[in-house]
Amino acid sequence: MPYQVPALRYDYDALEPHIDEQTMRIHHDKHHQAYVDKANAALEGTEWEGLRPREVLTRLDELPGDIRTVVRNNAGGQYNHCMFWRSMSPEGGGEPEGELAEAIDAAFGSFDAFKAELKDAGVNRFGAGYAWLAHDNSGLKVVSTPNQDNPVTDGMTPLLGLDVWEHAYYLGYQNRRPDYIDAWFNVVDWRTVYERFADI
Ligand code: MN
Repeated sequence: MPYQVPALRYDYDALEPHIDEQTMRIHHDKHHQAYVDKANAALEGTEWEGLRPREVLTRLDELPGDIRTVVRNNAGGQYNHCMFWRSMSPEGGGEPEGELAEAIDAAFGSFDAFKAELKDAGVNRFGAGYAWLAHDNSGLKVVSTPNQDNPVTDGMTPLLGLDVWEHAYYLGYQNRRPDYIDAWFNVVDWRTVYERFADI
């Protein structure tokens, strides 16, 4: 089945005031849809059609050279945005609990130290990309990727991705990426992150 943009699990305006309705509409309906359309066009009629984006992204080096870059960017756009929408909730914010909280403390010293590191990774990502909380099979790490790359390509398990493309924040925050990141922490759905962590 071709990739599809999943419906949001909340209203477009549900993340206000942290992320505004117009940003959500354009980001979800236009930007995400464009990644999906381009990924489907590139994969159509190939043996890769129908594979889940996560699998495709772990096997990029096996893709034919003429579609490798377009698939990397657009299957990446599909996987990253599906994760991104599900990582947010109007009931989000606060702190993780249980074993995830313990793992964050073990890796970063404290939840506040983790937040500072993730924010730093997002602020310092030059151009477009993501900051991630990921598990590298030894523990939790903060990493950053350019464009629509995902840590899964490097053998890690992505748990939480912060989209720092300008399309994610420019209408609401203009050039103030640090303010967007601070606000975004108020909508992070730690229950979803916990489920990904428990699934490793
Ligand atoms: Mn985006």
